[in-house]
Amino acid sequence: MTEAVLAIEPEISEATLTVLKRRYLQKDKRGRVVETPGQMFMRVASYIAAAEKAHGNDPGVYRDLFYGIMARLEFLPNSPTLMNAGTDLGQLAACFVLPVEDSISGIFETVKNAALIHKSGGGTGFSFSRLRPKDSRVGSTGGVASGPVSFMKIFNVATEQVKQGGTRRGANMAVLRVDHPDIMEFILCKQASADLNNFNISVGVTDEFMVKARTGLPYNLVDPRDGRVVGTLNATDVFEAMVKQAWHNGDPGIIFLDRINQDNPTPLLGEIESTNPCGEQPLLPMEACNLGSVNLAKFVVEKKGKPTIDYASLGKTIALAVRFLDDTIDRSIYPLDEITAMVRGNRKIGLGVMGFADLLFALELPYNSDRAVALAEEVMAFVQSEARKASRALAQERGVFENFDKSVFRNDKDRRFRNATVTTIAPTGTLSIIAGSSSGIEPLFALSFIRTIMDNETFLEVNPHFMAVAQAQGFYSEALMEKIAKTGTIKGMTEIPESVRKVFVTAHDVSPAWHVKMQAAFQKHTDNAVSKTVNLPRDATEHDVAEIYTSAFDFGCKGVTIYRDGSKANQVLSISGAT
Ligand code: ADP
Repeated sequence: MTEAVLAIEPEISEATLTVLKRRYLQKDKRGRVVETPGQMFMRVASYIAAAEKAHGNDPGVYRDLFYGIMARLEFLPNSPTLMNAGTDLGQLAACFVLPVEDSISGIFETVKNAALIHKSGGGTGFSFSRLRPKDSRVGSTGGVASGPVSFMKIFNVATEQVKQGGTRRGANMAVLRVDHPDIMEFILCKQASADLNNFNISVGVTDEFMVKARTGLPYNLVDPRDGRVVGTLNATDVFEAMVKQAWHNGDPGIIFLDRINQDNPTPLLGEIESTNPCGEQPLLPMEACNLGSVNLAKFVVEKKGKPTIDYASLGKTIALAVRFLDDTIDRSIYPLDEITAMVRGNRKIGLGVMGFADLLFALELPYNSDRAVALAEEVMAFVQSEARKASRALAQERGVFENFDKSVFRNDKDRRFRNATVTTIAPTGTLSIIAGSSSGIEPLFALSFIRTIMDNETFLEVNPHFMAVAQAQGFYSEALMEKIAKTGTIKGMTEIPESVRKVFVTAHDVSPAWHVKMQAAFQKHTDNAVSKTVNLPRDATEHDVAEIYTSAFDFGCKGVTIYRDGSKANQVLSISGAT
């Protein structure tokens, strides 16, 4: 092992170490932590790099390169890879979609498979759209069916039990098509029942529905078993019911199924009906995907006295990250043979970014500005094109993905990829804590705040860029940071220079329209989807939510999630005044 390489010890804060010790660092039989963060990255790097051997490469070389990008916190793979690489579990992907068939044995088979996935730290998405509606006849018994929502409760209970002993809480996404006869019950289900706390829910809408919702036209409800029209609803009424519930507590979200399927790289293998729990990864049933994120904050250099993006170095990291994620596919142990076959067949990977808000701070651009949106496009177009280049290079070395001849790329000389998709913008909930960066493409939640980790430990955190500027410009004091932690924002604080207030905006200073524009800018250059929450102030109206849904549709997003301040009981990150 090269000592020079191991000498790079990751810079990990105390809060982060707490997170790592709970779930990520290896423990001995008595539960004592036996690994440092550096050793964790080395465990991951050497386990993943072993895949290089099959392609005639020296795994040692790639182990050191992979270690370097992780230890410098320039790139991190999704949590299951960090937790499970080189362990008996060996399941490395964060995102799965499982089919839910319209039969008792099919449903319970999926409950079991979901439990296995949760145990390994993966999240599961399901479309419940194939289940027969409530009160339909059950042929074999003469009884009546209880419908999608009642079955979701079984998944919920199973998740609840597994999370007690598993690696993390367990997360599910339930999608129901808007033309399913039980759609209204689905829209209201999370309000009606506390038994769905382990689910995010999303209504899968068609383009036709969105057009009809604008003009108050009726649309058909269809029995999924035979396609028979069994009723109609007014599209505007259903849209308004969704909006009302989302305003109330954030659920349901909305996903645009036609848009998602336009980008389905393998339509011959089936239609995409669901995403993973946080919405960023549409997948076919039985498909899984590993995500990874580059930390943009690490790629800022001074050029002629001005901060700029070091694209040359970013490009190299992207190429290595793509190789890493492709290797991960071969090294991951999936809980089902069907999943292994599907994943190896399509080899989807999802490389994205985190630390975008930090990047904007470093470049002194306000998040809510045209220049920031233009930068988002520039950066993501670069990530996408470098990732594709890397995937093409891997295809030359190792071959295109197995299902290439059944994919939309089959007659395209310029798109002979190793991976059916290469980019996804993940939330990076934990990864950004490890990297010490802002999460995903989100604006900062607060410039200084109390971070609650794993339900009970709290830390006062000040954004490092803000702290540096405050110190350099002479307005830093602990008292001021505590004052900021009460609201999270410096809006209206005249003791802080106006130029600083303009750049250091936080989620609530950014209007919903800018949130959507930013999401759309990233989506334009992302194969899969974009995880983004449109934050709304507590006094936002249902009309505001409706505007967000329609503008997300108009701007080409694949879905959208909103969150109105204070509308859910448990916020992971809370401004200190609200804890
Ligand atoms: P991380 O930062 O831990 O790698 P993200 O916040 O980026 O994870 O989430 C990425 C995906 O990982 C989610 O969409 C989901 O599929 C899965 N995931 C996240 N949190 C959980 C959880 N608690 N349990 C199961 N899966 C999860």
